[in-house]
Amino acid sequence: MRIVLVGPPGAGKGTQAHLLAKTLSIPHISTGDLFRANIGQGTELGKAAKSYMDAGQLVPDEVTIGMAKDRMAQADAAQGFLLDGFPRNLAQAEALDGILAEWGIKLDGVLDLEVPEDEVVKRIAGRRLCRNDGSHVYHVDYNPPAVDGVCDECGGELYQRADDNEDTVRNRLDVYHTETEPIIAYYQAQGVVSTISALGKVNEVTDRAIEALKRDN
Ligand code: ADP
Repeated sequence: MRIVLVGPPGAGKGTQAHLLAKTLSIPHISTGDLFRANIGQGTELGKAAKSYMDAGQLVPDEVTIGMAKDRMAQADAAQGFLLDGFPRNLAQAEALDGILAEWGIKLDGVLDLEVPEDEVVKRIAGRRLCRNDGSHVYHVDYNPPAVDGVCDECGGELYQRADDNEDTVRNRLDVYHTETEPIIAYYQAQGVVSTISALGKVNEVTDRAIEALKRDN
C-alpha cells in the first residue's frame, strides 16, 4: 500500500504512522525525522533545514522534494510506503504525483487525522521523542514511558523537540492551515481521502485508521 498521512502538528501522525507501518509491513517515511537525522549528523541538508524548522516554517521545496524522492526510491519502499509529513503543500503534492507517474504507480489512500486545536497544543507541549528513533513517540501524561525519560522500545533517551514550544507551535499551526490543508481538497478531487478523528486512545485511533483504509480502498 502507498499511503499519505495528513493532519496538523500534534495530531499523532508520527505515533500512528509508526504503528500503521508495522501493521501493514511498509516503511514509515517521515520528512521531519529525515530532517532531524540530517541535523543530528551535521549534513549540508540538515544545515539548510534547521533555521526553517526552528521557526516552524516549511523547509524549501527544492530541498524537501529531492530528499523525499531519494527515500522513496530505496529498495524497502518498492512495495509500498507510508508518507508522514510529505507532501505538505500543493507544490509538493503535484511533485509527488509527477514522481509516482514517472514510476508508474499510484497512491492507495490519504488518511486525514482530525483533532481540535486546543488538544493539539496540549499534545505538543507534553510530547517526548526517542533520540535513537524519532518514531518512538511519548507524551508525559497521555502515553508515558514505563521509566521516566527512557524509551520503552529501545532504552534510548527521551527528549523534547526544539520546535515543540508555544510560539513555534502557533506558527506551525498557521502554516498547516494556509499551506497544508489545501492538499486535502486536492486529494479529495482524486477520491482518495479517508478522514478520521484522532481523539481517543492511541490503539483506538490505529484501529479506526486500519478500518478506514480497508473500507475506502
Ligand atoms: P509536525 O507534523 O509535528 O509539525 P514534523 O516532524 O513532521 O512535525 O516536521 C517538523 C518540521 O520539519 C516542520 O515544521 C518543517 O519545518 C519541516 N518539514 C517536515 N516535513 C516537511 C515538508 N514536507 N516540507 C517542508 N518542511 C517540512
